[in-house]
Amino acid sequence: MNVVFLGPPGAGKGTQALKVSEFFGFPHISTGDMFRKAASEGSPLGLKAKSFMDKGDLIPDEVVTGVVIDRIAEEDCGSGFILDGFPRTLPQAVELDKALGESGDKLDIVINIDVDRSELVRRLTGRRMCTSCGSSFHVTFNPPAREGFCDSCGSELFQRADDSEESVVNRLKIYDEQTEPLIEYYGQENILKTIDGGRSIDEVSDSISEFLNGSKKHNVV
Ligand code: ADP
Ligand code: ADP
Ligand code: ZN
Repeated sequence: MNVVFLGPPGAGKGTQALKVSEFFGFPHISTGDMFRKAASEGSPLGLKAKSFMDKGDLIPDEVVTGVVIDRIAEEDCGSGFILDGFPRTLPQAVELDKALGESGDKLDIVINIDVDRSELVRRLTGRRMCTSCGSSFHVTFNPPAREGFCDSCGSELFQRADDSEESVVNRLKIYDEQTEPLIEYYGQENILKTIDGGRSIDEVSDSISEFLNGSKKHNVV
């Protein structure tokens, strides 16, 4: 089962993708996590990416696409993968379809998480991320059991530089201009499922599981 999580920054893609990945056993591939790790390791690719990420700008398509296409060709993606944060532009979506098609594969489902703008800003400015495993928490909506530390792996939490109010405004504008058109693109391919992401984490997760289990039962995926 090849799944893409689509939605604006703060919609809950990472939170939900991690749950689906744990439940179904497919690797969770978050381009944000991959490039943050590369940046913290100081590799040339990571340093290049960091300059875009810190401002809330997108990393150029040709840099991101190659990394993702190499990643999904790895053995652990053989029976499926969960993409979170990719594709984010039409050229990325077209390249992904092309690469999958060349190996006789395709995307099965695109889950579009829909959330109001004011709620997105509240979620992003209160977000705390794990330095190690990619889990995300929220100071009010999803606080960790021990303040400042990850429930899943115990590592320290941090606030992302791009979760500042200024950067959030820029990221939402970029979403509207470059990512939102993907809703129509995948709608035309007939693989889009929009989920109301404005509810609690558990309610959203129940809707997604119900939908994915139903799709599995009917051999859609
Ligand atoms: P994305 O990957 O789409 O940017 P995240 O999964 O990192 O979003 O979630 C953004 C923030 O909102 C995090 O602080 C997370 O804990 C919180 N969050 C996620 N889903 C919900 C929800 N349904 N209700 C309230 N807060 C949520
Ligand atoms: P969020 O879920 O909050 O939008 P991510 O962790 O997915 O954030 O991404 C953080 C940053 O990493 C983006 O603002 C962008 O700079 C970069 N990035 C991640 N995925 C992509 C992508 N597919 N194309 C271009 N840049 C990306
Ligand atoms: Zn962790």
